[in-house]
Amino acid sequence: MTTVLLPEHAGFRSGLENGQLCFPRCSDCGRFHWYPMTLCPHCRSSRIEWQAVAGRGHVYSFTVVRHAFDEEWRSALPYVVALIEFEDAPGVRLISNLVGIAPEAVRIGLSVVAQFEAKKRVVFRPVNA
Ligand SMILES: [Zn+2]
Repeated sequence: MTTVLLPEHAGFRSGLENGQLCFPRCSDCGRFHWYPMTLCPHCRSSRIEWQAVAGRGHVYSFTVVRHAFDEEWRSALPYVVALIEFEDAPGVRLISNLVGIAPEAVRIGLSVVAQFEAKKRVVFRPVNA
């Protein structure tokens, strides 16, 4: 399956290569943000660094995909696309896939943890799954 990462995702990509989930964090105000930006959206500082987080969070929202918009994904149907919030990166919400759970069992607030695939992709699975 294809994952598209743009130049501004360099810190995210190198984190995945090291089995870490990294998000941009402002060195001046200390707040995280996502999507990556050259200036902090909270205080306009340019002192942005990538910081690794634990990769634990919860489902903020989700949808179940039942139609193959891309033939590459047909064999995965139905699959869950979720918006994940993180315990140690407040303000960050990442879109990813949720695995290891039947789509009808997914609930908002479900506790999840990152699962790295081939050092270039991250998905999430329920804690204790
Ligand atoms: Zn800031």
